[in-house]
Parts: sequence; structure tokens; C-alpha cells
Amino acid sequence: MQITAITGERQAGLDEVPDPRIADNYCLVKILTAPMCTEVAGFRAGRASRNLGHEAAGVVVEAGPRSGVVPGTRVVVMPQDSCGVCSLCLAGEHIHCRTPRNALAVCNSPTGRATYAQYCIQQDRLLVPLPDDISIEHGSMACCGLGPTFNACRLLRVTADDTVIVAGLGPVGLGGVINATHLGARVIGLDVNPYRLALARELGAEAVFDPTAEGAAEAILAQTDGLGVDKAIETANVEASPPFLARLVRPKGGIALVSWAGSLSVRDIVGRGLAVVGAWHWNHLVHGRQMLEVIRRNAAKLDRLITHRFPMSEVRKAFELQCTGQCGKVLLDPWA
Ligand SMILES: [Zn+2]
Ligand SMILES: [Zn+2]
Repeated sequence: MQITAITGERQAGLDEVPDPRIADNYCLVKILTAPMCTEVAGFRAGRASRNLGHEAAGVVVEAGPRSGVVPGTRVVVMPQDSCGVCSLCLAGEHIHCRTPRNALAVCNSPTGRATYAQYCIQQDRLLVPLPDDISIEHGSMACCGLGPTFNACRLLRVTADDTVIVAGLGPVGLGGVINATHLGARVIGLDVNPYRLALARELGAEAVFDPTAEGAAEAILAQTDGLGVDKAIETANVEASPPFLARLVRPKGGIALVSWAGSLSVRDIVGRGLAVVGAWHWNHLVHGRQMLEVIRRNAAKLDRLITHRFPMSEVRKAFELQCTGQCGKVLLDPWA
């Protein structure tokens, strides 16, 4: 099969590798769309890799002997592996499993964990079946497009009473605008990129700000009569963002950290009585139905969130576009 490889600084292309093998409860998934995500950092830095991608949707073409999936089932592929038997896995929090299985070892397979590829392998319980009325592309937004901020909104208990800041309006933050407006919240978007500020407005953000502009904090606070917003979702992945948000959230409000950069001071958290939660992925076992409903009811917005599609053979062009920031979610077609 064909996969994508980063071969050097801003160099990427296709490579040919053996097809994956399956065993046990693993399934072979023909990837029909591979949403692009943080792999662009490796492209920029020139970190050579043939193991790219963690998001995919497609169709099961072969199911392992202990899998409950019927071949032909259209699925979203959850990221990472898991043991399936620990308390976290049983609760649907597989992303936090401390004893994950090694798919390649279980299946004795040379390949199958990359998603910038024509095929991947995944355990049956980490495949989310897609109903017929949801397209593969829209379904694939249940990966990082909508997933982490869907969880952030649940952990923060976002409701229509809330004003919510979404900090960082890359593909993850833009998905946060969709999730928070879906719940009826009033959304304020923060980013330095005018293209992304405009896209956030289109997706339902009521106001948008460049947080690095002179007087930005005061202007944002003025949106809530100086009190501060109820909740904030951090996706900007910059050091300055969490402490900036702590100044903008009202006392007894909440912050969900989706990206992994920066820190919050205990003084801010305790002094303001903030609820701080970490939101990495989402719980497909417990909230699968609700996620599909977000996708179903926001089809038009997802068509705006997905701004570009590239054949996998043009992955270098796709990475270059990501580097400009002039895009929402970018999809790769492994078969074009
Ligand atoms: Zn586990
Ligand atoms: Zn991702």
C-alpha cells in the first residue's frame, strides 16, 4: 500500500510499504479520508517519519476472528491503542489507558498504525460505526476536528447560559466554535490569524479578537461587562494562552485545556475558584450518540470547517498550506 513519508525539512511524499495484517479483534480499515493535524510540526522541523497521522475514517474491509464488526461497515477510527480491560478502557476513556496493547505485535503486522495511508488496523471497540446519513468526511470530524472540544464542552458543562472563549482558531478551535454554539453558548474566538478569525465568525462566533493586540484583554472583558466569561477552551498551544485566559474567566468559571503548552498558577486557580479540566480526546462509548448528533445537525458548518482536500500524492502541497495557516481542516484522499 501507499503511505506518506516526511523525508526532510519541508519534504514529504509517498512511499510503498507492505499491506497490514490483522488478528484477534483488529480490523483492516480502508482509509477513505485522513484529516491532517499536528503532523505538520514534523514537516516544518524535518523529522523524518513514515508513521504519520492519527485521524481517519473509512470502511472495514476485513475483520479479525474475534472482532464483532461486519466487513463493509463505515467507521471513524479512534486514535491510539488500548488494553480494553482496565477501568479506564471499560469506562470509555481509552485515550488514558496505561497498559495499551501493541497492535503491530498482536497482529504480527509490518504496518497499519499510520493514517496518512491507504489502510490502517484498529481494534473493533475503537471503531465508531457511521450511520448511512453521515458522510465519511463529516464522520471524520469526530477525530480532532470536533472530538477534543466536544469533550471540553462536556467537562465544562457548557450551556446556552454561558459565554465561552475559544482560544486558538486552528482546526481544533474552530471545531470548538461549532461544539459550543451547538450547545447554545455565546462564543468569543481568539487568534492572531485574520483568515481564521473570519472563519470562526462564519461558524458562529459572535465576536473575535487578536489576543496580542493592544488592549485586547480589556476589549474582551468589556464583552461581559467587565466580569469575565463563564468558560474558556484553550486550543492555541502557546505558552502565554492559559495565564491570559485565567484573567478573562470570571471567578468560579472554568477552563478546559485541550492543547499541551503553558501553565496556570495555583494562585489564579484557587484565588478565582476556577475549575480546570484537561480534555484530550472524547469518550466514544458513552457519548457516541451525542457526537453523531453534533455532526448531523452541523453539516453545513462542517462543510465550512473542511476548507481543503488533497490527493495523498500531493501531501507536500497540503503540508505547505497548513504552514500558512490559511486553512481550516485539511483532508487527504489516500486513493487519489
Ligand atoms: Zn486500558
Ligand atoms: Zn488530530
